[in-house]
Amino acid sequence: MVIEPKIRGFICTTAHPAGCCAHVKQQIDWVRAQEKVEGPKRVLVVGASAGYGLSSRIAAAYACGAATVGVIFDKGASGNRTATAGWYNTAAFESFAHADGLYAKTINGDAFSNAVKEETIDLIRRDLGNVDLVVYSLAAPRRTLSDGTSVSSVLKTTGDEYRNKTIDLKTRTVSEVAIGPATQQEIDDTIRVMGGEDWYDWIQALRDGGVLADHAVTVAYSYIGPELTHPVYLNGTIGAAKRHLYETSGRITSDFPGVRGYISVNKALVTQSSAAIPVVPLYISLLYRVMKEKGLHEGCMEQMYRLFHDRLYAADGVPTDSEGQIRLDDWEMRPEVQEAVSALWEQLDSDNVSQLADVDGYWEDFYHIFGFGLPDVDYTAEVDPAVEIESLQH
Ligand code: NAD
Repeated sequence: MVIEPKIRGFICTTAHPAGCCAHVKQQIDWVRAQEKVEGPKRVLVVGASAGYGLSSRIAAAYACGAATVGVIFDKGASGNRTATAGWYNTAAFESFAHADGLYAKTINGDAFSNAVKEETIDLIRRDLGNVDLVVYSLAAPRRTLSDGTSVSSVLKTTGDEYRNKTIDLKTRTVSEVAIGPATQQEIDDTIRVMGGEDWYDWIQALRDGGVLADHAVTVAYSYIGPELTHPVYLNGTIGAAKRHLYETSGRITSDFPGVRGYISVNKALVTQSSAAIPVVPLYISLLYRVMKEKGLHEGCMEQMYRLFHDRLYAADGVPTDSEGQIRLDDWEMRPEVQEAVSALWEQLDSDNVSQLADVDGYWEDFYHIFGFGLPDVDYTAEVDPAVEIESLQH
């Protein structure tokens, strides 16, 4: 079939296998051209199929030569439905890795579940012995708890109602959005989904299963951002979850001797998850414009390479801020970048948004996530949507 993008709100319900493959290859080629990193050798990435997790897996494999196990939650094609982008990304990653002689296996299932944790531990024990790096890169809207009940995360404030500009990317109109306060239950649920509880459970299960190397490192990702997004992010429900994630990094370091738990505060980038947050996409399109003009722009791949090369496996120890967090948002948060973004933000309206903000750049990244708009891909050609992930073939 010929696959076209079908956009519904802030997601695209189709994905292109050849385009996703080209997107993965672009990242691999970029990493190959960088200096190698003396880093981890056996890596588990939880949330490995897209965004920061996928780029972490590529950095581990192609900058460090590591064997990788990825945990993903994706769907293969069925009937005239394409597979999810994460499925195609993983199929492509595995086939490149295998062709390059790198071990890569994937487990497809709900990372929050005990069954997936056990399956992963069995696989690591059988094939690798243990892992020396665990990347925890889940971004999930809900979590099924072990008793079968489900909790959802919400994107709300934890105080007063908050109003600010937001963009309808489709019509390129700027309007005001009002984000209401969450109930205590909603805050608690968001913490259960996006906080550190499940990260801790993973580390506990890996350690109890005897498959965590003595001096393993584990990292989870967070975001801080500028003041204008604080009510909806840092001081909102998601920020409360991220604070819990941060506290969990400390608990992991103290409860599992030898293991070091880190938070890496990453840059705001277009991913399936960030597209869902009000206000943030408009901020990202201004940020892209400013960072591109200043020659400071990075995507997930550049960020994750910098995480491995300049932070986690830097020769002189891991550089952190005063709270012990790794800061990959350092370029985003530079005063000259933030001052330029703020000045543009003040002037922004529907009439000037296309001139002031990099909406095209936003859309370009958005399409790339689903494998559309990549150079050298013939989007008019018939493609078979049924693509296998090599390690999942039975
Ligand atoms: P993403 O949506 O691109 O990727 C999330 C990954 O989690 C996907 O591979 C998805 O399949 C997987 N996943 C979701 N639920 C799962 C489940 N139940 N079981 C197994 N896998 C599951 O998101 P992202 O933006 O790369 O986010 C990853 C992390 O980075 C999050 O913690 C996010 O808060 C953080 N972060 C994102 C940004 C940003 O701007 N995008 C900035 C800083 C930090």
